[in-house]
Amino acid sequence: MAALLLSLLTSGALAGQYGAPPADIQDRLDALVAAYPEHLISHNGKEITWRDGTTMAVSDGRTDKSFTELLNEPDIDDMFAFSYRAENTPSPPRRFHDPGRIRYEPFFTKMYGDCRSGQGPPPQASVPWLKSRGGGVVRITTVNDVHEALASVSAELDRLPNKFVKFLKPNSGTYNCRRIAGTKRLSVHAFAAAIDINVKYAHYWKWTKPGQDGTYPWRNRIPQEIVEIFERHGFIWGGRWYHYDTMHFEYRPELLAK
Ligand SMILES: [Zn+2]
Repeated sequence: MAALLLSLLTSGALAGQYGAPPADIQDRLDALVAAYPEHLISHNGKEITWRDGTTMAVSDGRTDKSFTELLNEPDIDDMFAFSYRAENTPSPPRRFHDPGRIRYEPFFTKMYGDCRSGQGPPPQASVPWLKSRGGGVVRITTVNDVHEALASVSAELDRLPNKFVKFLKPNSGTYNCRRIAGTKRLSVHAFAAAIDINVKYAHYWKWTKPGQDGTYPWRNRIPQEIVEIFERHGFIWGGRWYHYDTMHFEYRPELLAK
């Protein structure tokens, strides 16, 4: 128990080592504004400005968040606490390295809507899923033209050799007005801006028993060819998270900016 506690403290799960803006925050904010032109006009380093004239603070001034606080109480700069690297070969992330898993919820509900608020589901369109392989259609949000990005993904996936189809078909869903299991945080599925591919070949950290040192061993069967196509069209992959979710892809172009 003492050893586990010590390892948690030194790893940052309990210690307050998160919250300070990354050194390249200006570039990150540039990427954020560029990623969502439908909604954002500009930033001045301290605030981002929306097309409706409202502003949103970049920082809450806190620099001593634990990892749990980072997840549950992030601000905008915290979304860039971990760098997302679209590497060629999927590899085990460093402990707690969860690029994209930190989401400032008011930012996303302002763009995509809040399905819990009585305004109903987000606006969606039907996109053919691996059309030549009979994958049916998926419903995905039209906000930020995510439906067009996913249509491009689907068309490219459809051209992969047959051996890849089993990972993709049947898909395991897009829109779902729900919180992330065991948390108060809305899933990106609630924004209809995420897709899960075939659950049969998926690995999820919560389905895994941690090792004796409390760490979750990374597992993955999803081929790089699939990941690369999604990433090129603005979707990040849950397989690049320490808290991995290898069937999960969500639209987060701000994290993929070069
Ligand atoms: Zn998912």
